[in-house]
Amino acid sequence: MVVDVVVAGVGIAGAFALRKISKNIDVLGIDKRERLGFPVKCGEIIPTRKEMEILLPNLYDYSLFDIPKRFESNRTKKVYFNTGKKEFWIDFEFHVVRRDEMIQKTAMESGHRLELKTVIRGFRNGKLITNKGELEPKVLIASDGANSRIAKDMGIWNYELSSAKQFVMKNVECDEDTVYMFLGKEIAPGAYGWIIPKGNGIANVGVGFRKEFSNESVHRVIERFVREYPPSSCLLKKAEIVSKVGAVVPIDKPFKKAVYGNVIFAGDSASMIISHTGGGIPISMIAGDLAGEVVNGYFEGTPLEEYDLMWKRFLHKPLENAYKIRKLWDLLAKNRRLMKLFEFASSSDLDQILRCRIPLKLKILYPLIGFL
Ligand SMILES: Cc1cc2nc3c(=O)[nH]c(=O)nc-3n(C[C@H](O)[C@H](O)[C@H](O)COP(=O)(O)OP(=O)(O)OC[C@H]3O[C@@H](n4cnc5c(N)ncnc54)[C@H](O)[C@@H]3O)c2cc1C
Repeated sequence: MVVDVVVAGVGIAGAFALRKISKNIDVLGIDKRERLGFPVKCGEIIPTRKEMEILLPNLYDYSLFDIPKRFESNRTKKVYFNTGKKEFWIDFEFHVVRRDEMIQKTAMESGHRLELKTVIRGFRNGKLITNKGELEPKVLIASDGANSRIAKDMGIWNYELSSAKQFVMKNVECDEDTVYMFLGKEIAPGAYGWIIPKGNGIANVGVGFRKEFSNESVHRVIERFVREYPPSSCLLKKAEIVSKVGAVVPIDKPFKKAVYGNVIFAGDSASMIISHTGGGIPISMIAGDLAGEVVNGYFEGTPLEEYDLMWKRFLHKPLENAYKIRKLWDLLAKNRRLMKLFEFASSSDLDQILRCRIPLKLKILYPLIGFL
């Protein structure tokens, strides 16, 4: 079937692309899921507009981050960091969203056609092969997430992933205006653990995990986080598991370019993510929005390559900083003596790190990466 535009994968990036593409273009959104965005494989936090203005200065439009109340389950004001040796509280506001509803409503309200339970099996010679037949789009938005089938079939899938496991828990006893983050090798090897209150005693509780940092399984690591590690388990003494998910998240640099012929990559499929925190929702919202904008222009004569100029203008510097911070964190985590330096970290350092800025103390270490 020939179609003007296929949005392949309707998660965050796909939904925001659909929302942006003009109604008079023939668009089809496809996704393998039966219910968009479900099950939720995400902590569901998005920095508020005020924070986004600091995080991504010079963005073309911050109204994307005027998150409607109907998608918000909680609003937090602080981030608590526990490094095993020290505690920090940073003022930083997040929306905790109902991510599945946000994807469903955004995609449905776009007015474009959606085909669910449609699995992409391959992409060859400009044709998208699905379980329901072949599609031949004039433009393909590849928003099929971290394990992008399309990127793999085009031979450009090259980024590092971290595993994660998350429980939704009830009866969690934490401050509901605080997002909790726990650092340290024994907590979440090569990553961090989190408790994100959704309101009414319910929370997303999870750990990131990278095999190169541990011989244990992710199941063992989350078990310890929930039941044995005092700083986190003390908040979860009465907590019960409601549901469990496992997932992966890119922790790499974004693609050097995200347009290949008539294919545009947006979101996790192009490793567009704040790689030291795994924060991909705001970046995927922007990438999807920009992809939609460029597609609108394309049918009036603008080249698709405009997309590469646009996302780089707004996202390249913060994503590059995030990647550098992630590499520095790896360096510290692998070297006990260097890790001692982290004991000198101040709340201002963590504040900067959270906002994708590299503190001076870490900048000094950066040249060491090549040697160690
Ligand atoms: C455990 C965990 C916690 C996280 N917490 C946060 C957080 O709190 N805040 C934050 O900002 N980021 C978080 N992230 C990252 C964030 O979820 C992602 O970066 C973001 O959702 C990426 O959006 P996307 O649209 O690119 O991909 P996705 O949202 O993954 O969407 C991809 C879509 O493509 C579909 N798809 C994939 N393959 C196929 C196929 N073969 N055929 C058809 N359809 C297909 C999928 O069903 C999916 O709907 C977290 C990630 C994980 C794993």
